[in-house]
Amino acid sequence: MAEQNVRISLDDYNRPLVCNVCGGRMIYKGVGEYQCEKCANLDYDDYGKVRAYIETHPNQRTMQDIEIHTGVPRKTIRQMLKEERIEIAKDSTVFIQCEICRKSIRSGRYCEECAKKVRIQEAAQKAQKNHHKSMQGFGQHNKAQEGEKRFHRER
Ligand SMILES: [Zn+2]
Ligand SMILES: [Zn+2]
Repeated sequence: MAEQNVRISLDDYNRPLVCNVCGGRMIYKGVGEYQCEKCANLDYDDYGKVRAYIETHPNQRTMQDIEIHTGVPRKTIRQMLKEERIEIAKDSTVFIQCEICRKSIRSGRYCEECAKKVRIQEAAQKAQKNHHKSMQGFGQHNKAQEGEKRFHRER
């Protein structure tokens, strides 16, 4: 009965649940902004803080700048960039790296070129999987899977 369903995910971004002025309930207003039900005090979750900072400081220089001024850990900021929740100014030096070629990018997980390659690869893999499925007879399932695993490891 007393069991509480506490789920912690990056999606929560340290949501303010209780007003730090009067202890009232914080109501979500959108884009990471919350307002107290009772005293109208405004507060932000990590996403709101970073977003507000970027909006008011369009020339943020480094990831560290954002981290220091918002108190939001770099890991979380990087996650937001990956999820394309926030966007960095064009002339800023805040970058994350393409997961494949390590080129500097501003948001998402891959640079444009690698994103293209990944899309093609994923389409090919999907086609291959469907092919495997249609080829599998009785008892061949595990064999086919093992072969696929070995193939991936060798690459
Ligand atoms: Zn309040
Ligand atoms: Zn790349």
